[in-house]
Amino acid sequence: ATPMSVIAGVGRAAELGILVRDADALQKAADADTVIFDKTGTLTKGQPKVSAVYCFNGFSEEEIIRSAACLEQGSAHPLAKALLALAQEKGYRITDEVADFRTLKGLGVSGRIQGKTLLLGSRTLLQGRNIDTEIAALEFARESEGGATLVFLAVEGMLAGVLAIRDLLREDTAMALARLHKQGYHLIMLTGDQERSAQAIAREAGIDQVIAGVLPEGKAEVVRQLQQQGRKVVMVGDGINDAPALAQADVSIAMGGGSDIAIETAELTLMRHSLNGVADALSLAKGTLGNMK
Ligand code: ADP
Ligand code: MG
Repeated sequence: ATPMSVIAGVGRAAELGILVRDADALQKAADADTVIFDKTGTLTKGQPKVSAVYCFNGFSEEEIIRSAACLEQGSAHPLAKALLALAQEKGYRITDEVADFRTLKGLGVSGRIQGKTLLLGSRTLLQGRNIDTEIAALEFARESEGGATLVFLAVEGMLAGVLAIRDLLREDTAMALARLHKQGYHLIMLTGDQERSAQAIAREAGIDQVIAGVLPEGKAEVVRQLQQQGRKVVMVGDGINDAPALAQADVSIAMGGGSDIAIETAELTLMRHSLNGVADALSLAKGTLGNMK
């Protein structure tokens, strides 16, 4: 494109609430055929709430909520916020110290409270430590099919509780994705969450393909593989975990209000916190710039 049309494109993007950090991105976006979305905080609001607590092996609901909230004090994950909010709502003051706190990226957190070893996170995390999670498999399947993310708590190697956490779609996600479908894009969800809950959210959003259970390092690799298959990929994300995938994509878009790292990595940032910005950016790229190269 001529410098003038690029400037016009950047100006028009600004009017649409799209911050353009790299003007080339608008031009590259004209050739894109695939849009990949992170799930939590991108398709969804990123304000998850606990909807149910399941207790096992003699642990009470209060013990489970207290322990989970206590562990999550050191985590910046959206699920951590949901657990801390629940403890606060219940009026539980969290005073215990956590020793050996660890973040297990894309899996959960661990630490010791009052000398006991606690593990909190995905089913995969517990299964990896040979902790039995089959107790209420049917119940868990039902929760996942309803779109809930399940967080498992183990105390001293034994399942203590499971918390079902729900995060609603952003109001305009389905509408924005319908626009992108009309424009002919293949829409993919890429998430660290489990297949079943991911599929439920994907159906509601109007996603074509789900790639679930991917660890943070794996997200960039998925983008690379799609590129090797000849796809021109737009990646849309909000979190710290998304930065490598954003960097790998042909065009990167961050949700405004997400993590600083995602915003610093991305070429475009959606200031209106709506995925309509993705449809706007891509139409702008195709309409204004695509035929002027
Ligand atoms: P996403 O791709 O949806 O942003 P992540 O890769 O951050 O998801 O996490 C994947 C899964 O790992 C979550 O669905 C959850 O089960 C588990 N997990 C990760 N971090 C935490 C945490 N701090 N507390 C509880 N569970 C966690
Ligand atoms: Mg996210």
